[in-house]
Amino acid sequence: MNRIIFSLFSLVFLFTSCTVYKKTTATDDGRISINFVQINDVYEIAPLNNGKDGGIARVATLKKKYVQENKNTLLLMAGDFLSPSVYNSLKYKGESIKGKQMVEALNAAGLDIAIFGNHEFDIKEAELQQRINESSFQWISSNTFHKKKDGKISPFAKTNTGKPEDPFPKTFIKTFTDADGTTAKIGFFAVTLPFNKASYVFYEDALTAAKKSFSYLIDSVDAVIAITHQTIEEDRILASEIPGLSLIMGGHEHDQHFEKHWDIYISKAMANARSAYVLTLNINKKNKQVSVTPKLEKMDEQVALDSNTHKVVTKWVNIANESYAALGFEPGKIIVNNMQPLDGRETEVRSYSTNLCKLIVSAMQSAAPQSPVVIMNAGSIRVDDILQMPVTQYDILRTLPYGGAIKEADITGSLLVQILDAGTKNKGTGGYLLYNETIRYNPELKNWSIGDTVIDPAKIFRVALTDFLLTGGEANLDFLKPGNSGILKVYDTENSLSNPRADIRRAVIQYLQARQ
Ligand SMILES: [Zn+2]
Repeated sequence: MNRIIFSLFSLVFLFTSCTVYKKTTATDDGRISINFVQINDVYEIAPLNNGKDGGIARVATLKKKYVQENKNTLLLMAGDFLSPSVYNSLKYKGESIKGKQMVEALNAAGLDIAIFGNHEFDIKEAELQQRINESSFQWISSNTFHKKKDGKISPFAKTNTGKPEDPFPKTFIKTFTDADGTTAKIGFFAVTLPFNKASYVFYEDALTAAKKSFSYLIDSVDAVIAITHQTIEEDRILASEIPGLSLIMGGHEHDQHFEKHWDIYISKAMANARSAYVLTLNINKKNKQVSVTPKLEKMDEQVALDSNTHKVVTKWVNIANESYAALGFEPGKIIVNNMQPLDGRETEVRSYSTNLCKLIVSAMQSAAPQSPVVIMNAGSIRVDDILQMPVTQYDILRTLPYGGAIKEADITGSLLVQILDAGTKNKGTGGYLLYNETIRYNPELKNWSIGDTVIDPAKIFRVALTDFLLTGGEANLDFLKPGNSGILKVYDTENSLSNPRADIRRAVIQYLQARQ
């Protein structure tokens, strides 16, 4: 009897092991490929350049194409998508939009994983929480955490899932299976640079967090991937310090970057989904080899617009256009097509006067010809992008989303010097000041001059400046507001749709149109 049971048992064992044998060796070839479709730094839901470049509806099509080839395909966003955006100055149904249009579009496109860029923290704490709750994608954050009002630090989380809370993981593991049954586990971590810090965010050192995350993941997965939002130099350091990484997909620079550093690919796509990188991870489980095949996808007219996503995009474009028509703008109208690309990248405009800065200052000068001095705060420029030709009215709207009047005032030379000094102090921030090229500082004599004439503290100057600067709200410029004894007169600005001083964007558009 025992023998019969034993034989039966053996038979069952033989049978089950046969099926296992069949499943693992006859069909499982030990090789599996996974596609990552990477985008980063996307501020525009609709295509730019007259509908020719980028747009979330093209991203959706690209993802679908790769899913059709290989169901093991993920669409990843390496940060900076909720801000800055022209939509963030608009309201819909009484509420500020603040990235809502982008979350809806990315949900429609089937975004799988997102990480924070520095700009996600531009919007208010409650607004970011709303966007997180509206998102249907997975977030990962290894070094940025929610610093709550009571000072407690916890992960950011979806708070509307019905469960207590759905916190963002520091590390994320996803298991992939292919048609012949090969499986692979991929570990992800995500780091963000602490640029324009928000008070409600706690930033752990990115490299320290990356090393901890890698050690936590490496023994339980087939490959570890870093998704980053930091400078290319920081990505190179990451590659040098963690040679076991399989891939670094990053954002922040806006320029396309692709290189192999210490055998690790670092990829950054062009801002606004003008391009996407598709990184195919090829895993051979038998010899534990992991290789990466990169492909650059240009997101131009060759890529069709996905109809479902396009519907969402169109809804928001119409909402924005209605708001702009009421202000007298025609967003689609081309205003210039024969200039060099205009540099409005944040790091650049906050540290020197780029060609775009010079153009805006000239436009202000042209709108306020009676003011020999023009001053603006670099923080008014929110596009964080290079404007390619042709430039439309919409490009100017997204460059200066807040608009606002150009104010003129009579001020003393001593106040003017105080303002210019503060501007230098604010280098690297939104309070960095941009002004006429004739204004110069002499570091040896420690004085300011206009042309060849040193600014006389007792003289009166008529100055044109962005209205925000006259509120005293700018860093190190809190003295610049009505009531300051150095301000002798503030001129009235006539608020009409034809007056270029009534809206700085109108001043730029009229200036560009006149020089065509
Ligand atoms: Zn960034």
